[in-house]
Amino acid sequence: MPEICFMEIQEVISKQKEFFNTNQTKNIRFRKMYLEKLRDVIIQNENLLYEAIYKDFGKSTFDTFTTEISFILNDINYYLKNLKSLSKPKKVRTNLVNQLGKSRIYCEPLGNILVIGAWNYPYQLSLSPIIAALAAGNCCILKPSEIAENTMKAMVKIINENFPAEYLYAFEGGIDETTELLQLKFDKIFFTGSTKVGKIVYEAAAKNLTPVTLELGGKSPTIISKEANLEVAAKRIVWGKFLNAGQTCVAPDYLLVEESVKEQFLEMLRKYIQEFKYKPNSEHYTRIINQRNFERLIKLINKDKIYFGGNFDKEKLFIEPTLLTDVNWNDDVMQEEIFGPILPVISFTNFNIVLNEIIELEKPLAAYLFTNNSEEKEIFKQKFSFGGGCINDVMMHLGNENLPFGGVGNSGIGNYHGKFGFETFSHQKAILERATWGEPNIKYPPYSEKKLSWIKKLM
Ligand code: NAD
Repeated sequence: MPEICFMEIQEVISKQKEFFNTNQTKNIRFRKMYLEKLRDVIIQNENLLYEAIYKDFGKSTFDTFTTEISFILNDINYYLKNLKSLSKPKKVRTNLVNQLGKSRIYCEPLGNILVIGAWNYPYQLSLSPIIAALAAGNCCILKPSEIAENTMKAMVKIINENFPAEYLYAFEGGIDETTELLQLKFDKIFFTGSTKVGKIVYEAAAKNLTPVTLELGGKSPTIISKEANLEVAAKRIVWGKFLNAGQTCVAPDYLLVEESVKEQFLEMLRKYIQEFKYKPNSEHYTRIINQRNFERLIKLINKDKIYFGGNFDKEKLFIEPTLLTDVNWNDDVMQEEIFGPILPVISFTNFNIVLNEIIELEKPLAAYLFTNNSEEKEIFKQKFSFGGGCINDVMMHLGNENLPFGGVGNSGIGNYHGKFGFETFSHQKAILERATWGEPNIKYPPYSEKKLSWIKKLM
């Protein structure tokens, strides 16, 4: 791990605080200039970014472009296009008692932001919040995940070589360094990672009354009704589950399949796994990030319940896409977020009963329903609380910058993407500006019955 000391962290933070107070980041042109610079730096270093992620967990250039680089470039373009309207003070109606006044909401930057990233989509999960925070006019410190060491080093290099440290700076570091960072006072902490570490971050932030956005995980269910278009469902689920070898926070964690279509559906899943060439040592398939996660995942494969897959390469850290059937709620694989290429299938006979069962569990980051039955769609939308999701697809809700992305309950606090990201890193300052003439005496003492009766009428 790198040798960064507490002094170095403190020095960068005080420089950033000083710089923020110069008000330069409040200038829209300044923000745009640096967003453009970040876009240029990413494009110029695209190959370095592809090589680093390939070294970390064998992720292909195609997947890295579609799930990471394109997201980041879209985010930058979104803010470049919309920054003026997002930052404009918003006029709101002034009520009767405040008449002869103007009411406006000013979006002001919060100040100094700490972004702590996760390793599974290392570029997107570190840089998307940074882009939103810079667009909103803040100074930022990034601490990417040390678990994906090469991507962490690549991000630290391209940021620190191209940006002034008092505006944007990246630290290499693991648990010790993050613990040190968390002792310091920021105006916001944006964390992506596990619910367990999210609680540590929340506790540390509370000591300084620092607001947080926590982008966490959970077991995201996918329901397949007998009234679904099964072929489309199988194709979309296989892509979403085994992309990045299942190491995706919004991947379908497990399937709930209506009993009457289960056998047919399992067969379709198997067909698409083979068609997509999702298999160990394939250039289309990603490996597991490290030995610890590999060992954890292998233990979740119950040999008696394998429908397809189950093979692995311990040397190269590959696990074959694995379908488990006849799974029940008490199995080990159902006790924690899987975060790997293992897909358990539980069957059900009654839609309402199975929905009530998952409503009883912790609220997940995502949920998906495949059906063409409008009543089932309505029940799913109205009764079940989860971060966000899709009907008749998986994960694609993330690709629409007009939708907020974030969890609820155990899966997170707050959200971002598009205008929601801008608001996440802004304070909504309310200002009522009043004229200094036409002041009725009605609110001032001495009070009287007559004044009270007028106030009752007015309010
Ligand atoms: P993690 O919680 O282990 O690590 C996340 C970050 O926290 C890393 O930067 C790490 O250095 C730091 N960290 C780890 N332990 C710490 C400690 N004790 N004190 C302070 N900092 C610490 O998570 P991970 O393994 O990187 O990611 C997997 C989890 O993240 C899964 O649960 C997944 O669902 C979730 N996730 C959520 C999202 C989302 O957008 N909601 C995205 C990706 C991953």
